Amino acid sequence: MLKKVILLSVFTLILVIGVGQFASADKRPLRTVRVKLVGDESFARQADWKEKITAHLDAVADDLSRLLGIKLEVTDYEVWSHGKQKNLYRLASNLVETVSKDGADAVIGFTLDRRYRVKNVTETGGLTIPFKGMLIRVYVGDNIHNQFVPFVIIHEMVHLMGGVHVDDGRLMSPTFRDTIKPELDEINKRITRLTHQIDFEKKYGSLNKVQLERLASLYESAIKHGNHEIATYLELGDIYKATNSYDDAIKQFWKVAELAPDMLYAWLQIGACHEEKGEIDKKIKAYEQAVKQVSEKDILYGELAALHFNAGNYRKSDFNARMARQYGAKIDPRMWEMIREKLDSR
Ligand SMILES: [Zn+2]
Repeated sequence: MLKKVILLSVFTLILVIGVGQFASADKRPLRTVRVKLVGDESFARQADWKEKITAHLDAVADDLSRLLGIKLEVTDYEVWSHGKQKNLYRLASNLVETVSKDGADAVIGFTLDRRYRVKNVTETGGLTIPFKGMLIRVYVGDNIHNQFVPFVIIHEMVHLMGGVHVDDGRLMSPTFRDTIKPELDEINKRITRLTHQIDFEKKYGSLNKVQLERLASLYESAIKHGNHEIATYLELGDIYKATNSYDDAIKQFWKVAELAPDMLYAWLQIGACHEEKGEIDKKIKAYEQAVKQVSEKDILYGELAALHFNAGNYRKSDFNARMARQYGAKIDPRMWEMIREKLDSR
């Protein structure tokens, strides 16, 4: 009997140690995020540009570990030349699409160029494409504005991990006031806890259903607290899509399509969600609306040609194929043949 009790208490002791380890693990063990550092032509013109970026990142290392449980590891450097794009959002998109990550999780670009404009961003600003990369703009030399750089970098790192704007004067406020509290609000604390171990390649595909549902409800509460930004609706749409909640996803992507009718991605997602639900007619309807508004008309006319063909609307398929060709799409000769055959046999 005594032996059994001792055994039991040993077992309890192990359990307690186990729970203790688990509890400390919940306090975010440091995660390494591998980053490739990029200087655009304006930034990389400085002889010591790599050291300058490193100094900026070193200055925020403690805060990143305290607030996000994240440690940056630099994998490589690259000089990036881009066109005269003046829209900071498009520029950041170009950055993450054209610079190869080469095994890194994300890309961090720096620019000194003052031409780039974006609404509601301080002159020392940044822009992030979640789980892909960010672009940070700083001033030349010891400019007084550069005092904001650490806050901008930490703020953008929170976006990188899926964080959203919460306008409460703390770190994730959309604009910085005179004083910034380098503290996270409750919504972003929870979001970044959920995405802490995310696989940057698989993005939401690497989270489980429970995690995704929690993430979605945090985004919904950010919206309730006044965040009505395209970026928020886009991520929420992606999150809902990852849980196969297509109706909820469609709702979010429509909000984007209304705010930014020229954003092809939102329209393609609306189409993809309808397709998942077997609603090809609704997919066609959305694309017919979209093709008037986006600049990538070749893509959508091409899609419409295929959709109408599969639905047996050969005349409409023929019309859309011609429109696609007019906008520069290369249509497979076999596609023309198939459309002709169907039209002739009528
Ligand atoms: Zn922001």
